[in-house]
Amino acid sequence: MFTTAPSKSATANLPLDLFAAINELKQELNAVILAHYYQESDIQDIADYIGDSLGLSRQAAATDAEVIVFAGVHFMAETAKILNPDKLVLLPDLDAGCSLADTCPPDQFAAFKAQHPDHIVVSYINCSAEIKAMSDIICTSSNAVSLIEQIPADQPIIFAPDKNLGRYVMQQTGRDLVLWQGSCMVHEIFSEKKLVQLKMTHPEAEIIAHPECEEPVLQHADFIGSTTALLKYVQRSDRPQFIVVTEPGIIHQMEKQVPNKQFIPAPATGNCACNECPHMRLNTLEKLYLAMKHRQPEITMPEATRVAALKPIQAMLRMSA
Ligand code: SF4
Repeated sequence: MFTTAPSKSATANLPLDLFAAINELKQELNAVILAHYYQESDIQDIADYIGDSLGLSRQAAATDAEVIVFAGVHFMAETAKILNPDKLVLLPDLDAGCSLADTCPPDQFAAFKAQHPDHIVVSYINCSAEIKAMSDIICTSSNAVSLIEQIPADQPIIFAPDKNLGRYVMQQTGRDLVLWQGSCMVHEIFSEKKLVQLKMTHPEAEIIAHPECEEPVLQHADFIGSTTALLKYVQRSDRPQFIVVTEPGIIHQMEKQVPNKQFIPAPATGNCACNECPHMRLNTLEKLYLAMKHRQPEITMPEATRVAALKPIQAMLRMSA
């Protein structure tokens, strides 16, 4: 259930210095700005905290700010609201959804779950509040392997919604998971052929990839990990060059943190910028300012859904403490 976004006419009188105006509003609202690594550079630069889903969840759980401005996609802001029912949670653009979350409709997932009554459900955080409410444990790409390893070996598990992350976790843990067949349109768009060609012209470069990518792409990777793990890896590796196989927004942080190295975004299959997440990129600095100014669009949800979704998130935070 959502409020409406600011009208286009509201964008007419934007301040000249958006950074200063946002910082003023931050003080006025007692707000914190949380941003995902896949956000545009300006948003990353004004955020109080930049991170992956696990880091952002931890920040959302710990903040004492009264307003959370979530520069990410809908399921991330929803997670912040689940953890903070009494706080105002704003998402700059309510249309910033997620193709992966959309591949798991709640009614179909409920029927799937009913077919596996002995299984517990571990869901990747990239899913709706309704799917979280049907789950036992939430995970992120940072902690999925570790959380699955903590579950007794004889306990059957459904893993949802990302089949690629699920397959990767199966390989890493040796566990046999029942996979929901969802996927992310961005991480499936990388071209194995173009990746190999790029590596041939940059033989010194290491290929680093996110586990949401498909198997043929991942098999070329020198390192696989969450966005935070990729960021840490480029800091400790002695290589001067990296081919980055995830949403290229992360490269902004890589260039800031390791300015003496070179980062090359992995190419998509077509001649397009399809490796940029169209959902994440709906948020802009202007929309972030307007959301703070008008205190909307606000994230809300039925209390019963929130309470049910909270338990598996708390389980994750406890198990990955
Ligand atoms: S990159 Fe993929 S999983 Fe992440 S928000 Fe975009 S569509 Fe969803």
